[in-house]
Order: sequence, then structure tokens, then C-alpha cells
Amino acid sequence: MNEQAKPNSFRTGPDETGMFGIFGGRFVAETLMPLILDLEKEWEAAKTDPAFKAEIESLNTYYTGRPSPLYYAERLTEHLRDIAKKQGKTGGAKVYFKRDELNHTGSHKINNCLGQILLAKRMGKTRIIAETGAGQHGVATATVCARFGLPCVIYMGATDVERQAPNVFRMKLLGAEVKPVTAGHGTLKDAMNEALRDWVTNVEDTYYLIGTAAGPHPYPEIVRELQSVIGRETREQMMAAEGRLPDMLIAAVGGGSNAIGLFHPFLDDTDVRIVGVEAGGRGLNGEEHCASITAGSPGVLHGNRTFLLQNPDGQILEGHSISAGLDYPGIGPEHSWLSDIGRVEYVPIMDREALDAFQLLTRVEGIIPALEPSHALAEVIKRAPDMAQDQIIVMNLCGRGDKDVFTAAKHLGVEL
Ligand SMILES: *Cc1c(COP(=O)(O)O)cnc(C)c1O
Repeated sequence: MNEQAKPNSFRTGPDETGMFGIFGGRFVAETLMPLILDLEKEWEAAKTDPAFKAEIESLNTYYTGRPSPLYYAERLTEHLRDIAKKQGKTGGAKVYFKRDELNHTGSHKINNCLGQILLAKRMGKTRIIAETGAGQHGVATATVCARFGLPCVIYMGATDVERQAPNVFRMKLLGAEVKPVTAGHGTLKDAMNEALRDWVTNVEDTYYLIGTAAGPHPYPEIVRELQSVIGRETREQMMAAEGRLPDMLIAAVGGGSNAIGLFHPFLDDTDVRIVGVEAGGRGLNGEEHCASITAGSPGVLHGNRTFLLQNPDGQILEGHSISAGLDYPGIGPEHSWLSDIGRVEYVPIMDREALDAFQLLTRVEGIIPALEPSHALAEVIKRAPDMAQDQIIVMNLCGRGDKDVFTAAKHLGVEL
């Protein structure tokens, strides 16, 4: 832990240059700077404007279906207590789920996309661009563009376009144009570069809608604030249900937007332990994982300094995870900082463990989770038996599993 860098509050970052300690910032081409400064100015105005807040709240309520419930997973809790008992332990924490999988479009991504498209409208932008890996952010972006009647261009690696045909079709149904990117390996990193290039070329009318709490400042802050509705609701709902804050928060981390959304409102409650779960893939020794903090190193990606997957020459690695949503090759800079100062703990969960958790939840609670939060769930399963029965864990169930049944079937050796 970096004791000297320890702040009085964990919630004040980033500083005016966009830094969280030594992470974050804006590492972008000179030509992009005016756009970024424009965006920052508009964001500063929007975030204190009651009309902006009211419009987001209305969309959250009537379009997304917020607040999402905080659900006591009674059967899972009992199941984990039985496991504890068999191990000769008396523990088994109470497990709650924040059910963001019930949102319109099936995950937390809509929280961010709605807020940013309102920002784009405020700025007078008439065209939206985004990049997508597996297509989930592309679908969420195409959804809000349909809702607001704005043209939408989604950059997607050519390899991903082939692998993710159903999401490509969804985006097209929603009216988006999907542009395959053939540079590099034709995956997410190449699509990110292409989106940035488009933005520079079409400065006047275009808004770049980033899908996770990463990118150049002020994006990490914008996405965090839009996703913090998850943590704010959780606080209120927890107080109503139990009259106190939870003992532990657990969330899956790809780029880190659902996780920072849950964590941020609790960062200064230092009695609340916070755990981010990265994709350990097939193991941390090779390159088949997406554990940027646990097994990566600091570098610059997507306009900010953060932990990422790179080889000794600084080339970005592809990474691997059973869940498409976790295979972002970096992590939002605020997470790198929270890890560095020791406020949040980051741990890996392997593909196999996530797949087991996916099946368990389906059977004991009748909820098919997405493979991303199945990673968080696998960590819950490890921790709950060692905690006392009067302790409470809240896990962000950030996505539903309908999209993942084919992947799960394949890994379970079932032919559909
Ligand atoms: C996209 C996605 C993620 C990963 O993104 P974060 O920015 O880390 O939240 C996790 N879970 C689900 C369900 C997703 O769709």
C-alpha cells in the first residue's frame, strides 16, 4: 500500500488534470484536446444542472425500470451455510443481490448510455459513435440512439463481427451502422483506435460514447457518476432492509463501470470491505486471462494511464475470458488507484469457477446470471462461509444470462 498517497476522502478524485494519483489523465493526440475540453466544460455544467438530473431520473424510472431491487438471496445464503457447516464452520454471511440485470436491455450499461446521450444532445451533437467488443455496449448505444432518433456508428473488430453475429444483427435492427475494423487482430483495441480516429475527423457533429469507466478524462468520472445510481440505491435499500450498511461489496470488473458504480458511494465507509473480481480466464501464468490489476502492468491505453495487459514491448495483449464483457485489455484508472492505495481488493476468478457459479445460482435461486457477474458470485461463494452469519455481502448482479446460454452450453458439452 502506498501510505503517502492516502487521501482524506476516497471520493474526491480525479484532480483537475484528470489524475487519480498516478493513474488516469488524458493521453490523446493534440487534435483531440479541444473536443475533450469542450466535453469537460459541458459535463461540469450538466452535473449540477437540476434539469439534466431530472431528465436522467425520469428515463431511469420509466425507460430502464429503476430502482432495481435489492434482493435477499435466501436459498443461496442457506446453501452456503450448509457448506460452512460441512466444513465445521459456524459462518455463512447473508447474501444480497443488487439486481441491475432487470434493467431494460439486461444490464447496467443502459445507465451510462442514457446519461451520455443526454450530454451529447446538450452539446448539440447530431451523430453518435462508439466501439464495442462483444457487442453489448454497441447494443446499448444503438438502443439509446433509437430512443433519441440519432444516427449511430459502431466500430467493431472484424473478428468480433464474425464471432458476435446476433449482437451485430441487434444493432442493425436498432438502426445502427456497424463498421468492421480489419486493422490489427480485428478486436476491441482496434475498434477503440478507429472510433478515436472518427472522432477527430468529425469534430463538429459527433459525440463519442465510451462504454466503461475508462478513456481520457473526463470520461472515467462521467461514467462513474452515471453508474453510481447503483451504489446510491443500494445504500438506501440496505438501510431500509437491515438498518445498516453491508460488511462487504463484490462486483465483477471488466473496464470497471458496474463495479465503480456500486463501490463509489461507499468508498469513505471504511468498515465496508470492497472486492473487485477480474477474469482469471484459464489461469494467470499465460496470456489467457483479463486480470489487468492482478497480472498486468501500468501503461497507457485508451487515452489514460492504468494497469493493462501488455507484452514486454508494450504491445497490448488480447486476453481471454469465458465472458465476452470482461475481456477489456485494461481497467478504468480509478480502480488502478483504489488498488494502489489499498482501499479496494482485486482478485481473479477462473472461467471454470464462474461457470460453476452460473449453474449454482440458476438452480438455487431461479436466476440465470450473465457470465460476468458469475465471476463476482464465485467470489461470494468463496467468502461467505468464512464470514459470520450476521454479516452481509452485497453483490452486483449486473447482467442477465440469456445472452450466455449458448456459451455455457458449449462449455458444458451440450449441443443445442
Ligand atoms: C459490459 C459488461 C461488464 C463489464 O463492464 P464493466 O464496465 O466492467 O462493468 C460486466 N457485466 C456485464 C453484464 C456487462 O454487460
